[in-house]
Amino acid sequence: MSKHNLNSLVETIRSRYLSIRAQIEAAAQRVGRDPQAVRLVVVSKTHPVETVQAAIEAGIRDFGENYAEEALQKIQAFHAIEGLRWHMIGHVQSRKADLVAGHFDWMHSLDSLKLANRLERFAAQNGRTLPVLLECNVGGETSKFGYAASTPQDLEILSREVEQIALLPHLQIRGLMTMPPLYNDPEQTRPFFAKLRQVRDFLAEKFPMLDWRELSMGTSADFVAAVEEGATFVRIGTAILGARPPKSYS
Ligand SMILES: *Cc1c(COP(=O)(O)O)cnc(C)c1O
Repeated sequence: MSKHNLNSLVETIRSRYLSIRAQIEAAAQRVGRDPQAVRLVVVSKTHPVETVQAAIEAGIRDFGENYAEEALQKIQAFHAIEGLRWHMIGHVQSRKADLVAGHFDWMHSLDSLKLANRLERFAAQNGRTLPVLLECNVGGETSKFGYAASTPQDLEILSREVEQIALLPHLQIRGLMTMPPLYNDPEQTRPFFAKLRQVRDFLAEKFPMLDWRELSMGTSADFVAAVEEGATFVRIGTAILGARPPKSYS
């Protein structure tokens, strides 16, 4: 990318980032929340290293990625830059747990005890403690990953998993994450955000010794509703980095 093109990309990303940040602040204030309690994770999946570089120059430090190998290239490209935080937000196959436990700062999409056990093993090997969020499928779509969390039986099963995960010394439960069904109207998504908060409140009551502070919810399409419903992480790609290039490998 030419110097000129890079500079204009930096400016585009910076102004979109500031505009989203302002919308988050307004939404938080509307419901009496501290705007500082909402962190903005910029989702860079399938974007090339150059776009991430422009985002870093625009002042962005938190990046969300869905594919472990692709992310690793970016993490390594920018390892010399202080203060970057990498968030895994996609489904992780157990055999890729080592990449996540070794290189990511947050794991938003923990969705099985099997994966938790693998992450624990590699986090221990790397001498790290990994903050994790449990992904919940509050929309009940069978195509989605995450723990079912609709019926009392679902919550019973989820609670048993929490008991097991809480025993793993190198994983630190910090809250919940969800990716609700996609609608054109964010008001249709709002009940799913409220539902995630209710699941969180249920777990916080049942497991008061654990930390349930974080709610990772809301994307470009619906982050305002998510913030109003209590999001502490929003995950925004398109509205800041523009349309995603197609995924180039699996
Ligand atoms: C891609 C993705 C996002 C970002 O979506 P945008 O619509 O580009 O903002 C957020 N969360 C998850 C889990 C994703 O996979």
